[in-house]
Amino acid sequence: MNKIYLDNAATTPLSSEVLNEMMPYLTADFGNPNSLHSFGRIAKAGVDLARERIAKALGCEPNEIYFTSGATESNNWALNGIAKANRHKGNHIITSKIEHPSILETCKKLEREGFRVTYLDVDEMGLVRIDQLLHFISPDTILISIMSANNEVGTIQNIQAIANIAKEKNVIFHTDATQAIGAVNLNVHEMGIDALSLSGHKLNGPKGVGALYVHDGVMITPFMNGGEQESGLRAGTSNVPGIVGLGKAVEIATRDIIANSKKMRGLRDYFISKVMQNIELTQLNGHPVQRLPNNVNLSFGMVEGESLMYLLDLNGIAVSTGSACSSGSIENSHVLTAMGIAPDLAQGAVRFSLGKNTTKDEIDFVVEKLIECVEKLRKVSALSKTQVGKEDE
Ligand SMILES: *Cc1c(COP(=O)(O)O)cnc(C)c1O
Repeated sequence: MNKIYLDNAATTPLSSEVLNEMMPYLTADFGNPNSLHSFGRIAKAGVDLARERIAKALGCEPNEIYFTSGATESNNWALNGIAKANRHKGNHIITSKIEHPSILETCKKLEREGFRVTYLDVDEMGLVRIDQLLHFISPDTILISIMSANNEVGTIQNIQAIANIAKEKNVIFHTDATQAIGAVNLNVHEMGIDALSLSGHKLNGPKGVGALYVHDGVMITPFMNGGEQESGLRAGTSNVPGIVGLGKAVEIATRDIIANSKKMRGLRDYFISKVMQNIELTQLNGHPVQRLPNNVNLSFGMVEGESLMYLLDLNGIAVSTGSACSSGSIENSHVLTAMGIAPDLAQGAVRFSLGKNTTKDEIDFVVEKLIECVEKLRKVSALSKTQVGKEDE
């Protein structure tokens, strides 16, 4: 069966250009970048080049880039490290209700440690309430963390406006840009972003590697102790092939941003309009225009998202749902809930995330199967309802 992958927000395939760049460091150039001999120097040159490439892509200095194991680590480190290093200035943190769990769970932990955290609401399109940000910011606020673009519904935040407010109030601003790199232009120095998280495997790079940008002068405690790597803030022998791959992946994603965005946006809008024309009771979740070029999040009335996901999978189509089935009961996505999507529509939500190699033929095939699958599930659902009705009689 021909398989179609529309779950690029979960992870992406490694691009061959990236693999080629990594290959020498997986084989002959295996040195430890901390060694002073030639093997070490070759490995160090690879790491240095990756740091320069990422700095160039983000518009910052190479010494402001720290390599990590991915965006989960970058987010944990940014929040913990910045909160603790700046505690003498205040103990209030502001974030939003739609952040990735690596932000939300870290905030919960910081609350247990005595920090005060405000979780901003979003509007029905997933935009963070700037009025609330202005309302809740106080002399005690030390850190604001708002994601650049949401992984479930694709809404792109007004990052420049938030950065401006943070700067004016002298508060450190961190953004989780994991989904935004390669889709949104983010020049951190120009925009006044103080810290930013990104991850390799969301941009056709390798898994288990990411980066945290921290503006020079922003205080942050170390993430790992026991070595001089990453300016002594993140000890441990560097993941050289991963870092080299990450550097190349970020370079490509920013180099090709216009062409990739244009292509995916065209397919995205074609897909949305085809579905809307052919499947009734369908709703697009997230912002209609200020959204990631590759994100389509749809709720199908009278359909359970998870059943649809499994049925599409049987047809070779990989998508994902926002809801997680934990211990038998379906827990709705915190993002859709925060947007005020009714529980039954939230349960019908399915995320289709396109990749840079997704084709129109694939989209046409997906639309055809989607029409069949939704119809099938609605019949079953209607049937079970009548049967329940009969039993009741
Ligand atoms: C995937 C993702 C993460 C986690 O990244 P990992 O590198 O898998 O740890 C964090 N934030 C967002 C928005 C993501 O999409």
